[in-house]
Amino acid sequence: MSTTASHANPTRSFAILTDVTLCIGCEECVAACKTTNDTGEDDAPWPWQGGAEELSSTRWTTIARTEGRYVRVHCRHCLDPACAAACPVAALYTTESGAVAYNADICMGCRYCMVACPFRMTRYEWDSPMPRVRKCILCHDAVSSGELEEPACTAACPTKATVFGEREALLAEARRRIEANPDKYIHHIWGEHEVGGTSVLYISDVELTAAGWPDEIPGHAVPELATTVLSTVPATFLTVGAGMAGIHWVIRRRDKRAAEAAAAAPAEPESPDSNDDEVSS
Ligand code: SF4
Ligand code: SF4
Ligand code: SF4
Repeated sequence: MSTTASHANPTRSFAILTDVTLCIGCEECVAACKTTNDTGEDDAPWPWQGGAEELSSTRWTTIARTEGRYVRVHCRHCLDPACAAACPVAALYTTESGAVAYNADICMGCRYCMVACPFRMTRYEWDSPMPRVRKCILCHDAVSSGELEEPACTAACPTKATVFGEREALLAEARRRIEANPDKYIHHIWGEHEVGGTSVLYISDVELTAAGWPDEIPGHAVPELATTVLSTVPATFLTVGAGMAGIHWVIRRRDKRAAEAAAAAPAEPESPDSNDDEVSS
């Protein structure tokens, strides 16, 4: 089965299926993600392979070790995402392709999304003067524009342990593999039902509790997590405070962009008058 998708029909929902039994922990997926998303070399792959806590603002996917297996960890792209529900300005939003994408231009830095995420997958650029929320975006922009045929991480995987395709086709493939090897796999597809379903699916021969699928993850959508986050915030902050923060944020972004545009603009030719001034002075 080909798992690489074309995007002629934008209403189809896409997903990533990771088969833990095929992963060799090479971290080619991590390297490809870092290169494609230009997240720098500070935490380049190889020395890690610890756990989900190694996700960072510059490392949107990582490899966790559990029970002798390597397990990819990245945003689950929930079909009904609590992070997007918690976001007051829709900076995080669902797409028809299945990705939970991000618009940094309108994000105001409140970080409600980080509190709401049941998987704790979002990270923040704490050290940046213009911080953004950072997480896997399923290569949404590059894939939807046709720049990439599939996410960089799945394209880079040498063993096809992690593959991209239509969600329904990947669920069928996951069931086929489990049925073909019933003694090998745990009879469960992680992400099929958890939190109402996700666009990142796993099959495995070991439990994934310690690799980003904690037991408390419910088997239904969790918009109540967003409600809980928002209910802990004073109403005055949500209205006046969030509004002021949003205005401040937008102004800072606008000023930053204006400064960047000015720096990139060609230098103005000097006027004859200014030359005269220099000569005469
Ligand atoms: S930090 Fe706030 S505004 Fe930005 S994406 Fe998260 S919830 Fe939305
Ligand atoms: S889908 Fe794209 S952003 Fe997400 S982990 Fe893979 S390469 Fe990184
Ligand atoms: S590239 Fe494939 S085999 Fe290598 S760590 Fe990533 S998922 Fe595993």
